Amino acid sequence: MAEIRPVEDQITADLLVVGGGTAGMTSAIEAAETGKTVILLEKQPSLGGRVTTSYQYFPKLCPPTCGIEINLKRIRSNPNIRILTLAEVESASGKPGNLEVKIKLNPRFVNEKCTCCGECEPVCEIERDNDFNYGLDKTKAIYLPSLLAYPPRYVIDPAYVGDEKMKKVVEACPYDAIELEMPVKTVSAKVSGIVWATGWRPYEAAKIDNLGFGRIKNVITNVIIERLASPGGPTAGKIIRPSDQKEIASIGFVQCAGSRDENHLPYCSAICCMASMKEATYIREQYPEADIHLFYIDVRSPGRLEDFYVKMQADEKFHFHRGKVAKITENAENGNVILEAENTLTGEITKTEVEMAVLATGMVPNAVDNPPPLDTKLDDFGFIAPNNDNGIVGAGVAARPYDVSASNQDATGATLRALNCGSRR
Ligand SMILES: Cc1cc2nc3c(=O)[nH]c(=O)nc-3n(C[C@H](O)[C@H](O)[C@H](O)COP(=O)(O)OP(=O)(O)OC[C@H]3O[C@@H](n4cnc5c(N)ncnc54)[C@H](O)[C@@H]3O)c2cc1C
Repeated sequence: MAEIRPVEDQITADLLVVGGGTAGMTSAIEAAETGKTVILLEKQPSLGGRVTTSYQYFPKLCPPTCGIEINLKRIRSNPNIRILTLAEVESASGKPGNLEVKIKLNPRFVNEKCTCCGECEPVCEIERDNDFNYGLDKTKAIYLPSLLAYPPRYVIDPAYVGDEKMKKVVEACPYDAIELEMPVKTVSAKVSGIVWATGWRPYEAAKIDNLGFGRIKNVITNVIIERLASPGGPTAGKIIRPSDQKEIASIGFVQCAGSRDENHLPYCSAICCMASMKEATYIREQYPEADIHLFYIDVRSPGRLEDFYVKMQADEKFHFHRGKVAKITENAENGNVILEAENTLTGEITKTEVEMAVLATGMVPNAVDNPPPLDTKLDDFGFIAPNNDNGIVGAGVAARPYDVSASNQDATGATLRALNCGSRR
């Protein structure tokens, strides 16, 4: 069911799902399709989570639209699901089966009358960094969060809502949909159980000093290349290097950038090898003559994903190097980057010069920065521990580094466990 505001002060449902990424959407759908009522709560202005920022996703290399649209259709047609975007849990109390949750609803400043006609955008004179594209381009202060945005509705960046220039935007809206005075609201929800599916953020690449991100222009990250490759991204799908906008003829993928490293993320994020091999196929498609180098400790492509790896090994344009990259330096003459690695089998030190490097950084659970309430236990790395008995069950990457399909499977199991809390009432 589409998001409807204003929201009553008190709402009731069987299940609260926190986080509207692929795991949270799956959880809400699974519960609702068995007849349970669900509140699906998302902090951002639209559903979809990190998957919407990918150009394609493995193993089938389909665009994110293919999975998300099916889920959105199921959500839209199910009256058991109540969506709240720009919403966050403030606090929770009670016991499994009988929980009371305070939810903060941040204002969108655009109401349900918005038809996405777009008349507001050209008259808006204020620009802001586009966080969806990792700050690589700008949006107006009133913007559609993404081409896939659901609910399909504009939003205003709160930093600019008080700016005089926004008055022009209000006047340009033919539907009276802009409310610059929209207040913050807190509502209370009674639920039996909670699925916590708040997902992940990328590890801060700039902290890995030896790999040069932020210092060397042509060092980017795995999440950035997804946006460069996307037709809706900052370069309209062209994979060009930042220093001179040159379309690349060679590229190096640096696996385990900060991962499996006591100084950064001690764990393996499980998806980075597959993500890099997938991103290498973007280059292969667009620039068939480009040489693609991938530096790895060991390639992790479990189960059916192994076929993908085997296919890539057979391709003459892919060069696999066994060795962790210890250092990246810049060739000041041409802006290229030099990847220095030690082959872990032969001990040989190699230097490989490429036009751009992509750091395969890992996934950090958002629960590290914003832990769930009710003393929910996290593991040593910030993932939600499996043994909580407070009515909160972790799902998707909030619980463990997973790919999309494993996140969805995990969310299905978590839903069952969280709904089961109700039987203890
Ligand atoms: C570079 C890269 C490429 C990848 N490519 C693939 C691929 O091709 N195929 C594949 O299967 N997997 C891929 N993955 C993994 C995939 O992104 C994850 O499996 C997937 O995002 C997990 O979904 P999720 O719902 O658990 O988390 P997320 O996608 O992170 O969604 C979590 C949601 O919760 C919201 N949220 C966060 N905090 C709060 C809060 N406090 N309150 C309310 N809401 C909150 C977020 O805004 C977000 O919408 C890739 C990962 C990386 C790093």
